[in-house]
Amino acid sequence: MTTFELDQAYVASTYKRFPVEIVSGKGSLVKDSAGKEYIDMGSGIAVTSFGVADDEWIAAVEKQIHAVQHMSNLYYTAPCAELARLLCEKTGMSKVFFSNSGAEANECAIKVARKWAAEHKGPACSTILTLQNSFHGRTLTTLSATGQDHYHELYQPLTPGFASFPAGDMDALKKLCADGTVAAVLIECVQGEGGVVPLDPAFAKELADFTRENDILLMVDEVQTGNGRSGRMYAYMNYGLQPDVVSTAKGLAGGLPMGATLLSEKVKDVFTFGDHGSTFGGNPVAASAALSVVTRLTDDFLAGVTRKGELLRDLLGNAPGIESISGLGLMLGLKTVRPAAEVVAACMQNGVLCLTAKDKVRLLPALNIPEELLRKAAEVIRAAAAPA
Ligand code: PLP
Repeated sequence: MTTFELDQAYVASTYKRFPVEIVSGKGSLVKDSAGKEYIDMGSGIAVTSFGVADDEWIAAVEKQIHAVQHMSNLYYTAPCAELARLLCEKTGMSKVFFSNSGAEANECAIKVARKWAAEHKGPACSTILTLQNSFHGRTLTTLSATGQDHYHELYQPLTPGFASFPAGDMDALKKLCADGTVAAVLIECVQGEGGVVPLDPAFAKELADFTRENDILLMVDEVQTGNGRSGRMYAYMNYGLQPDVVSTAKGLAGGLPMGATLLSEKVKDVFTFGDHGSTFGGNPVAASAALSVVTRLTDDFLAGVTRKGELLRDLLGNAPGIESISGLGLMLGLKTVRPAAEVVAACMQNGVLCLTAKDKVRLLPALNIPEELLRKAAEVIRAAAAPA
């Protein structure tokens, strides 16, 4: 049986896949089973931060695999400890809990908020507020946190204790907080799955001021926006925010499963022994991979991400058929005249892999994509977006 046939027969049908089997790649170029080459403008949905089969990443992973591939969290391992220190140094946060995915990183954030609030404000204070149009994961609790009703329909009853309000609507937020039962507000600075929609900076500031003044935790979901994608280490830095909790995953380990929940001084000791755990959390191979990513996210490198984002905006900004461009750094959403799915299909035909997010074409290339490939990809995207 071919891979297509095997997959269709045996893999649960949760993904609507394109009829393409990717077999190899280098950097931002990937090849399918028929030998056709593509420029990868999706990087596995913001995962392969330094592209496919990156030499430095491979060396870091290989070295650790030969040393020890896994050890239980009953013992210390250096990559995990060093990565936690590096993340804290780069953010000013105080401690890190490691897991394996974005959903788990958010689950941890939610547990921290619930325990912190129960201990500091009383057990009735348990509500977590999120934004309408947000996306926080597929576990039942992160699905409950997700503020898009269509994700909820088939999975009732949801985990209680969540409510959402429209981004930008401070009055709605204040109303929801009036009874004193709100423990935390969880936001994305750019709603990725929601259509690459950035928060309004004035609203972000008002929200941050309000949560601080009312002793409500501010938690930022940096699963998609994090680890250099926005042109800063984390997207909240573009907004001048100081979150109490940050969750991240995707690009952190550049292609191995890893989630991280960063805890500020205020909440760093909420968890004590036995409160939370994960068999694979902080796995030394994943942590070594993450070290090879995060050590390269220097200010100079991040300035390059911003420059490439601007270049891409320049190359696409005046294209017939592209109405507007949203996003930050190398996380861009194109509002196109043609349906986004048609544009993505035409790009694929012509050797460029793009994504969609709601009604937008979404671009999430590797952070080190060469300018020359960005220019080539932009040409293909411009042609695909042009109305017939
Ligand atoms: N949070 C955000 C903002 C995301 O974009 C995603 C995934 O797209 C998640 C959480 C869930 O991450 P994962 O699929 O790794 O569980």
